[in-house]
Amino acid sequence: MLSASDYVIRGPKIEDKFVNKCLGEVFFEVLKTGNPDDVLLVDASYGLDKSRAELLSATIKLAHYLKEKCVKTDDVVGIISTNSWKFLASVISVAYLGCTVTVSNPNYLHDDLNHFLRTTDPKVLFVTSQVYKIVEELLHNHRTVELIIIYDSDTGSDTIWFEDILRQHVEISTFMPTRVDPETTLSHILFSSGTTGLPKGVMHTQNGFKHCLNVLSHPQNGALNTNHRVLIVLPLFHIFGLITAIGGIVNNAKVLLLEKFKPDTFLKVIQEYKATYLPVVPTLLQFLSKHKIVDEYDLSSLRDIFCGGAPVGEGSEKLIAKRFNNLMPRQIFGTTEAGGGVIIMPPGHRKSGSVGKVVIGCEAKILDPESQMVLGPNKIGEICIRGPNVMKGYLKNEEATKRDLDQDGFLHTGDLGYYDKEMYFYVVDRIKEVMKYKGFQVAPAQLENILFQHPGVKEVSVVGKPDDRVGELPTAFVVKQEGVSVTENELVQLVAQHLHADKQLHGGVIFVEEIPKTQSGKVARAELRKRFQSS
Ligand code: AMP
Repeated sequence: MLSASDYVIRGPKIEDKFVNKCLGEVFFEVLKTGNPDDVLLVDASYGLDKSRAELLSATIKLAHYLKEKCVKTDDVVGIISTNSWKFLASVISVAYLGCTVTVSNPNYLHDDLNHFLRTTDPKVLFVTSQVYKIVEELLHNHRTVELIIIYDSDTGSDTIWFEDILRQHVEISTFMPTRVDPETTLSHILFSSGTTGLPKGVMHTQNGFKHCLNVLSHPQNGALNTNHRVLIVLPLFHIFGLITAIGGIVNNAKVLLLEKFKPDTFLKVIQEYKATYLPVVPTLLQFLSKHKIVDEYDLSSLRDIFCGGAPVGEGSEKLIAKRFNNLMPRQIFGTTEAGGGVIIMPPGHRKSGSVGKVVIGCEAKILDPESQMVLGPNKIGEICIRGPNVMKGYLKNEEATKRDLDQDGFLHTGDLGYYDKEMYFYVVDRIKEVMKYKGFQVAPAQLENILFQHPGVKEVSVVGKPDDRVGELPTAFVVKQEGVSVTENELVQLVAQHLHADKQLHGGVIFVEEIPKTQSGKVARAELRKRFQSS
């Protein structure tokens, strides 16, 4: 008889490229070894190239300045900014000092930034002048902040301009990063709303971060390498953007950064810089698969489209393959708490709808949400993950840490999924997004995948409309594709042809101009639910 441990699915053995090194040493070695003139980073929004030598010099000058200002190991340094080369240079210089970096969404307003500062107690802040306008008003409540560095302008005597630090003379050749214990030193604190409540600070150690970088370097996960040009349009304050950008740098790929997603700029940058490697979220994948403007650009350089962050259906995958000369997008499943991608489709494998296989050094199991029994193949339950990249815990929130990390070190992701007999995993949806219709569970992703196959549907999101009689009425918010006709009845019928009577669009279809998104590109379902209150 099989025991519970037989149902724990293990990834391949760890291959550690960075044995015995702390994160600062890893970055330092990459920047000081190799051709100093190689361009490692392109700030594509501004057409700025940064060579290895320029990055080495800038990161050392920053680290030197911070050290002069008494920033030491274990101090927390916050970055609140849009994507820029300065953002990444700051992350690297903070690692040189063995400090912890924490990042926040630059579009946050007072309440959220207050929560961020209160949770992380940073000593230094790197911000844009736009963000500074808000942060300035909050500082009286946050006495830990001793130094504010502004990326884009000289705002006055209480702050220092990033460019002024770069102008200082520092002896580059004698610099050495501070040696810290990568097992215990926190490399970063990112924010996640997890399964409940206000965003929580997710703590990761340097070893956890290095493991994520090892995952991206491994052939099973596409082996980022020198030949790649990685386009990062995802925000660097989110784990997916941060890890793939840093992964590109440590693997000597060229990293192309975009400040934000604008359809024509995004496509132009792929074309001009011949981007090969593209991490995206499903909304971007939908754009690439359906938007007409895509045909106006030569995107034939793309070799690897890598999609995570929310469910992707077979429909999207097939449309991409059709449009991009049989290039199948690879799915990646991960969470902020898991430290990035933990289940990834290996290159060349084809399993439609699957998020792939467990990555090196990690383990996954499926738990029955009710009985908490470990389930075997093809049984749906909560996906739980264990591995070196999983968070140390939530900052100042032991209760949530205990709830999400069990005694055996498995992270309970809050996602429903299963694996098949060949150990490929599938994500059904988030447990809390699953709608209840007359007591039956209906996963929005399943309906969305079907609806997305209609040529008249450009974007779609399904949400449960509260109903006293039946619980929730699955309702589709749909953005129409220009020039293609589509009616509510057609979409209702389309779902009816594919799914059982309990999984129908009982709430109908609402056509909208756009679907609200979060900063990391996910559908803002809470916003959509609010529309039911006002209707
Ligand atoms: P975040 O912490 O912002 O990265 O969000 C993590 C959540 O995104 C997971 O718990 C899932 O609900 C969702 N997610 C990430 N990747 C996938 C994927 N490939 N398929 C379905 N859902 C995903």
